Amino acid sequence: MRQERLFTPGPVELPERVRQALSRQIIHHRTEEFRRAFLEVRELIKRMLSDPSENFVFFASSGTGAMESAVLNFFQEGDKVLVINGGKFGERWLKLATHWGLKPVEYRVEWGKSADPQEVRRLLKEHPDCKGVFFQISETSTGAYHPAKEIGEVCQEHEALCVADAITALGVYHIVPKDWKIDVLVGGSQKGFLLPPGLSLLWFSERAERSLTDRAFYFSVKKELSKQKEGQTAWTPAISLILALKESLELILEEGMERVEKRHRALSEGTLKAVKALGLKAFAQHPALSVSAIASDRSEEIRKELLKLGIRVAGGQDELKGKIFRISHMGADPKDTLMLIGILEVVLNRLGYEMELGAGVKAFSKTMMEYGLW
Ligand SMILES: *Cc1c(COP(=O)(O)O)cnc(C)c1O
Repeated sequence: MRQERLFTPGPVELPERVRQALSRQIIHHRTEEFRRAFLEVRELIKRMLSDPSENFVFFASSGTGAMESAVLNFFQEGDKVLVINGGKFGERWLKLATHWGLKPVEYRVEWGKSADPQEVRRLLKEHPDCKGVFFQISETSTGAYHPAKEIGEVCQEHEALCVADAITALGVYHIVPKDWKIDVLVGGSQKGFLLPPGLSLLWFSERAERSLTDRAFYFSVKKELSKQKEGQTAWTPAISLILALKESLELILEEGMERVEKRHRALSEGTLKAVKALGLKAFAQHPALSVSAIASDRSEEIRKELLKLGIRVAGGQDELKGKIFRISHMGADPKDTLMLIGILEVVLNRLGYEMELGAGVKAFSKTMMEYGLW
């Protein structure tokens, strides 16, 4: 018997507790039982973000729905905005902004590189009428981290709304939106929240609240917020996912955000040291902790061989197709990542790479011990 193991940066494997919650019979959402559970989930989100604010809503959509909602609810047609575009998801902000009539100024970042806060500052000086700055904390398509705190700082200097796609950063980094000076934060369920796809989150600051529009219908923040504060929703919610989110948030908070970030840091560093010991290297200049993108012209062969041994990792998209493969760390147990490194060694060996069996495992284990995880 062989079960395929997922190491893709979305969807990610589900913790046992989440799977148990998902196996329950559906309940009705216009009930006291749902209301109580939903309000508990809202409390857990507040704890996760260390912020008592009620300014956040869930949508029954994939992550892109909350991205679209961010564009629609806080910006008007004709608004000038700065978009940091360093990969597939930066490109998505650009497309969404253009689609809804905003006037984006594009800061194009070479794929694999991270945004330079000085360049953001320069662009905002050049375009002082920019109402917001859109970016990804973790650009999943290239594995790059964009320096969110520094970008938030620059946004505040220029009174632009800092709009952060944190779909692969929530549940990975210890994000405190107030400290990071983030005004709009987007999350998605099949990534850092360790759930199946179909639930998204939109959090916003008091400053962003003052810009709220009435442009959206289904994705209306105003309509949802007035209901969700009371434990209800405007439309039928993703009931099962909300009940499961209670489990995954409890898991995350039992570990504690500091330790969660530390574990992901160890996983990222351990994986990159391991692949280095095997003769491969990281694609991103400043790797995000959620996903390791590994550069290799033979990435498709490597992926295919890994799959034969029951391990699924992601490839590259568009211009990165065949150039990288990506290993997710979201919610990962280091034991499982160690297993993946071991199998990767077998695969590289089979493909005729000059490498020493065990070198990756050794580098990875050493890192876990250095971090005090083992
Ligand atoms: C996955 C992802 C998205 C899009 O989410 P969907 O759930 O596929 O709509 C957006 N941004 C980032 C950074 C992602 O990783």
